[in-house]
Amino acid sequence: MMQLYSPLHFFGTYYRMIQQNFIDMEKMLELFEVDQSVKDIPGAKELNVKSGHVVFDNVTFNYDPRQTALKGISFSIPAGATVALVGPSGSGKSTILRLLFRFYDPTSGNIYIDGQNIRELQQNSLRRNIGVVPQDTVLFNDTIEYNIRYGDVDASHETVVNAAKAAQIHDSIMNFPDGYETRVGERGLRLSGGEKQRLAIARTIVKNPPIILLDEATSALDTTTERHIQDALNAMTKGRTTLVIAHRLSTIMKADVILVVRDGEIVETGTHDELIRNALDNNGEGVYYDMWEKQLHDDGPSAENSILQDDQ
Ligand code: ATP
Repeated sequence: MMQLYSPLHFFGTYYRMIQQNFIDMEKMLELFEVDQSVKDIPGAKELNVKSGHVVFDNVTFNYDPRQTALKGISFSIPAGATVALVGPSGSGKSTILRLLFRFYDPTSGNIYIDGQNIRELQQNSLRRNIGVVPQDTVLFNDTIEYNIRYGDVDASHETVVNAAKAAQIHDSIMNFPDGYETRVGERGLRLSGGEKQRLAIARTIVKNPPIILLDEATSALDTTTERHIQDALNAMTKGRTTLVIAHRLSTIMKADVILVVRDGEIVETGTHDELIRNALDNNGEGVYYDMWEKQLHDDGPSAENSILQDDQ
């Protein structure tokens, strides 16, 4: 009986493991609403990140031959810099992140990390080096500790706690009924949007990748939560090359470079000050300037004041 039981038991465990991994991966992919179409080339190499310098060189991409999502875009992100992607819905911001994560290969043109063409790399090695913080984080039906450690299953409890502290979520966790052992997810404690996002940030700090892709949550946050999230983001992005789909004025203003994307093209590039100054020198004409004016109008003057206070 034992002889029969063991292999069955093994396959049962193995099956559950595969199933769990599959569900996790499926959930991650769902966030980007894509299926995996890219295959490693024979002899694909491991990515060797030296500093995290990212280059898009004349990248064109079509999901569908009848419509071009990205039209020959080129940009270079210095190692460790934060780049904010801004632009209307459907302009191609998420597509830029998906191509860097290699959910798809460009139709033409190339993407390089520290001079290595990502087409020629093992997808696993690429993805190990990139942390993704989506707008709405998937929580597994498990403990807080498990959910943070998901970034690196070998991380110690101390590493998990330090990441939670850096992500400004530790104090909230200590107030949960069972601390780090509190179960979350659909069958556990429901976390607020801001808490979920900080948990995702803690998870990424544990993963410790040199490159980060971040899709900022669009939902409005109160000032205290906004400040907590901003501190958490600063801790996460410090010294790491970061591409952020930015919705918050605070993030946009502090980005090293802003890429303004419209209809699959980068129509303006610069810091916040440069883009505003250029528009003012051009009779107030500028895509970024218009977006900025609209955001200030929508968010009210308090938004700008709180950012300006931040800088003092
Ligand atoms: P949003 O701010 O609304 O998220 P975005 O700027 O991130 O928009 P993308 O998601 O990159 O825009 O989309 C760029 C274009 O590609 C759009 O025209 C969109 O309809 C199209 N597109 C996006 N995903 C797919 C897909 N999986 N299949 C086909 N077309 C797609």
